[in-house]
Amino acid sequence: MTQPRVVIIGAGFGGIAAADALLKAGYRDVVVLEKASRIGGVWRDNAYPGCACDIPAPLYSYSFALNPEWSRRFPPHGEILEYLRRTADRLGVSEKVRLGVEVTEACWDEKDGCWRLRTNTGEEIEADVLVPAVGQLSRPVVPSLPGAETFAGPTLHTAQWDSSRPVEGKRVAVVGTGASAIQLVPAIAGSAESVTVFQRSAPWTLPKPNRRYGAGRRAAYRMMPRLMRLPRAGTWAMTVVTGKAVTGNRAAGLLLRGISTAQRRWQVRDRALRARVTPAEPMGCKRVLFTSDWLPTLAREDVRLVTEKIVEVTADGIRTADGELHGCDLIVYATGFAATEFLAPMRITGRGGSLLQDEWRDGAYAYLGVAVPGFPNLFLMYGPNTNTGNTSVIYFHESQARYLAQAVRRIAETGRPLEVRRERALAYDDEMQRRLAGSVWTGCQSWYRTATGRVVTNWPGMASEYRRRTARLDVADYAPITNESVPY
Ligand SMILES: Cc1cc2nc3c(=O)[nH]c(=O)nc-3n(C[C@H](O)[C@H](O)[C@H](O)COP(=O)(O)OP(=O)(O)OC[C@H]3O[C@@H](n4cnc5c(N)ncnc54)[C@H](O)[C@@H]3O)c2cc1C
Repeated sequence: MTQPRVVIIGAGFGGIAAADALLKAGYRDVVVLEKASRIGGVWRDNAYPGCACDIPAPLYSYSFALNPEWSRRFPPHGEILEYLRRTADRLGVSEKVRLGVEVTEACWDEKDGCWRLRTNTGEEIEADVLVPAVGQLSRPVVPSLPGAETFAGPTLHTAQWDSSRPVEGKRVAVVGTGASAIQLVPAIAGSAESVTVFQRSAPWTLPKPNRRYGAGRRAAYRMMPRLMRLPRAGTWAMTVVTGKAVTGNRAAGLLLRGISTAQRRWQVRDRALRARVTPAEPMGCKRVLFTSDWLPTLAREDVRLVTEKIVEVTADGIRTADGELHGCDLIVYATGFAATEFLAPMRITGRGGSLLQDEWRDGAYAYLGVAVPGFPNLFLMYGPNTNTGNTSVIYFHESQARYLAQAVRRIAETGRPLEVRRERALAYDDEMQRRLAGSVWTGCQSWYRTATGRVVTNWPGMASEYRRRTARLDVADYAPITNESVPY
């Protein structure tokens, strides 16, 4: 088999990285299936005002396609989307993408040793290798609040922004104070008549030095692309400090807590408000948010922070536990994503008819975040335990893409499927869970954890460790496939 048929599901940063690695390795029979009408992943979907990356763009970009055109350190989502599209074109990946195709199920055919996919239109597609690259943050979650359906005005999720519903002059309610809310609220305060923010827990914040990149700097980067390595290295160094802080280094933790506390003191003069924006949870157990305008925005006259629990939604607004009805014309849910439900709602059936959702009934896991026992020739991008709160997810994508290219080479050379040994995958998962058990992410409930508390999204160490461990595919991790059914 010289040219395995590879199907990648999803055309975000992960899917594009995977396709690029395979094309560069000489594999031409690659197709990327994308359910939306354009490529872009989260940067296409999250079009809410203020949306931007929160890891500086010199690091939040492909190492092999550094971008001289960033307008600032944390560019807005439109620029990131444009960068991804331009890069996919330049790499020759765009022509491999089929848009408007949603994969609904995939089944391993043991007789023919291939994957059989079914799409939303009923089309059947065969693949030798299947690469789900559907992201961890692509399924928005809206809380089920009593009476939500009775609200008379429009409701939106930040990841399903509808620009035909302007916020100008409206009384806007924003539910949530996570990464999306802290970008959205400062962006709409002032143009909305008022903004009421409903907070369940106060987030930890750090200042966001969002420097502009002037024309001179951009010209220099165009002329001498190597110069772009400097801000990338600087950002990397910063992420080492934040990485050490979240993985338990006391000094780094103290430093960041100190900066965050100083930011609150400096930016919130009103003591009562400061008390309400002071986090009660350990720093890092939820994503630490980079922002310089969130706290000053909460102090505005036309912005109100509500910390009482929401009890119901009525036709006119949102009622809190103290009985107050907060009238509003528009409700925005900045309530995040179903991050722990990897690959849902696709139905993936592996060897012996085993369902991936059964394999993952106690929480998703995968060897190196990539391979699952019982599911031959399936390689995940941004799979379980490969998320990072402090550095660039794209760095992890690139590690996975390189690993994938080695797996496809092995499959092409031997003509045989690759399936990770169960004992290796389970031992790896034990290691992950052991390390995560003592981690900061167990300090509170968050989108990193399943309902039972298992941390399934995050990588427990430094990014460099992940790069090292995925650098070389060890064939000893993989077993020849027998026709015995999966031992579960
Ligand atoms: C608002 C926001 C800001 C972020 N900022 C940062 C940041 O600053 N730094 C950072 O490192 N990370 C950030 N992230 C995390 C982000 O998820 C990753 O950085 C990265 O973009 C994920 O890329 P992906 O390709 O893996 O997934 P996604 O971007 O989610 O792409 C998945 C794609 O798969 C498609 N898809 C899903 N299911 C199917 C199906 N069944 N069939 C066909 N297609 C399907 C989707 O339509 C989507 O296009 C942010 C996330 C959000 C939401």
